[in-house]
Amino acid sequence: MVVPSHLRALHTEDKEAITDLGPITVAPPGERRSGYFTFTRDPALAKYSWPFFSITGRREGPTFLITAGIHAAEYTGIDAAMRLGRMLDPGQLRGRVLIIPLLNRPGFYERSIYVNPEDNDNMNRVFPGRPDGTWSERFAHWLLNEVIAQCEYAVDLHAGDMIEDLVPFVTYRETGNTDVDGRARRMADAYGAEWLVKAMPTGERSGLLFAAAAARGVAAMIAESGRIGQVEADAVARHVDGVQNILRTVGVLDGEPARVAPARVLNRFEWLRSPVEGFFRCAVRVGDRVKKGQALGEMVDLLGERLEAIESSVDGIVLFLVTSPAIKKDGLLLGVGVPA
Ligand SMILES: [Zn+2]
Repeated sequence: MVVPSHLRALHTEDKEAITDLGPITVAPPGERRSGYFTFTRDPALAKYSWPFFSITGRREGPTFLITAGIHAAEYTGIDAAMRLGRMLDPGQLRGRVLIIPLLNRPGFYERSIYVNPEDNDNMNRVFPGRPDGTWSERFAHWLLNEVIAQCEYAVDLHAGDMIEDLVPFVTYRETGNTDVDGRARRMADAYGAEWLVKAMPTGERSGLLFAAAAARGVAAMIAESGRIGQVEADAVARHVDGVQNILRTVGVLDGEPARVAPARVLNRFEWLRSPVEGFFRCAVRVGDRVKKGQALGEMVDLLGERLEAIESSVDGIVLFLVTSPAIKKDGLLLGVGVPA
């Protein structure tokens, strides 16, 4: 049997070479591979295929995962991931970069906000998932075990959803493992966002991808850039530049990292929800500093009659807000980060 030279190199010169990450065949050293993969072991998942890029350096190094589109209408993350997949040069890499630009594949052409139309659940609330659970739980299980947990680093790119405005920020979760936490903090600081949120949002379900990754020893974070379903060039560029600076900082991409100001830490993340169904008249903008007790807006009924005043429960910064005024009872209104 004649073995192509690049495969021979994989098998003889470098016994540690990684050839597969779960269902994804990684590019040989010095090459880029792109295409689509699926989870063949689960028939419900196998009806979709997911886009990927695999870019492998000739020099040994860590495995770095970039994901986007777990929320299918957060387009700046998806666009940045596609651009990074075409841009990163294997000749400048140490280790390997794997990019999955669109995790919520069922939701993309449906223009789904927040959820996966297969089960109407938020895919970023179901990790670590279950092999016998709902569609989203099964996807989370296979993605986490077969792909994410095989990586040393993971960045999940987000944006303001179709009905959300936000200021750029990064998030990671402290695990108590000083090595993992230290590497995640270096990544978060290298992205170049002004704000860093370390705390869980109040009243929210757990089960986020990056938190499940961190619990498995992967240095993982979220970056948020972009707003209200728009593909604004500066918001995409912030993701592309931020991820490249992280790759340089952790030694995966050649070149000196740009010296960016470390993010300012927000110790709490207060998510305000409406006590009533109605029309939200918002009185603040993202980036505003607000005081405890300050009016943030009001909920009115469909005749314009005031139902509830919405006041801030804390002193802090408005990091995101819901731009659609149509709010169900207990529906999310906005998020306020509380500085250290
Ligand atoms: Zn998101």
